[in-house]
Amino acid sequence: APEIPESHPRYESLLTRHRIEAGVDRGLTSRQGLIAQGRGEAFDYLLGEETIPSADDAERAAAAHLLRADHAVLSVNGNVAALAPEETVALAAATGADIEVNLFNRTDERIERIVEHLNAHGAEGVKGTTADGRIPGLDHERAKVDADGIGSADVVLVPLEDGDRAEALAAMGKTELVVDLNPMSRSARSAAVPIIDNLIRAVPNMTDHARELADADESTLSSIVDSFDREAALAAAEERIRAP
Ligand code: ATP
Ligand code: MG
Repeated sequence: APEIPESHPRYESLLTRHRIEAGVDRGLTSRQGLIAQGRGEAFDYLLGEETIPSADDAERAAAAHLLRADHAVLSVNGNVAALAPEETVALAAATGADIEVNLFNRTDERIERIVEHLNAHGAEGVKGTTADGRIPGLDHERAKVDADGIGSADVVLVPLEDGDRAEALAAMGKTELVVDLNPMSRSARSAAVPIIDNLIRAVPNMTDHARELADADESTLSSIVDSFDREAALAAAEERIRAP
């Protein structure tokens, strides 16, 4: 690993970049994932590389959705696996959600590697290898999901999802929680809860909220969910980018 001094003003950003590079070297992340990372960094820079208040609200609403769900699934792709494996396992534990490996550029080999990587970080029962369900409206490879995972979930957290798939999942009637640094992306715009924040900050913060809400009753969770305004969240992020 390159030596990055912690005092470097962009320490977090450089560390994140290095994790993605290592993910590619280990066969977890696709080369396309490098491009996605670059796009994300540009938006993160414009957002001030911090969790803005509207994103914190979104993370709290997402935690409430996950806790309230009948069957919540956290979708993991190559970037998520490289950036936040432990953090994803912790969020699943705090919310009772399942984890499913689901790749835009799907290969069985990469799915296996990511499952093993998550297992090494404490995951159990990771889904994604069966691929016996389909998302309607997408071509064959892009449509694959596990029938007892994303296929039957009522709430799905999709970090860094491609816009087409995000729209198709929303069209299936699933409550979609999307982590994406670009408030203008179709992924963010099709989400019930757009979380405009870096995945590496968003996931641990959702876990903190979930732990804090662990004993909350149904009506408390519902009021958090109901008072969240997706349009306002998108507008607040765009505002921060335009007028920092
Ligand atoms: P679409 O409008 O179809 O959604 P897109 O620009 O989102 O297009 P992609 O390149 O598929 O297309 O998506 C990558 C997305 O992931 C970008 O919006 C980028 O901001 C986001 N992203 C990349 N890295 C991170 C990260 N670490 N945390 C959160 N979002 C990220
Ligand atoms: Mg997108």
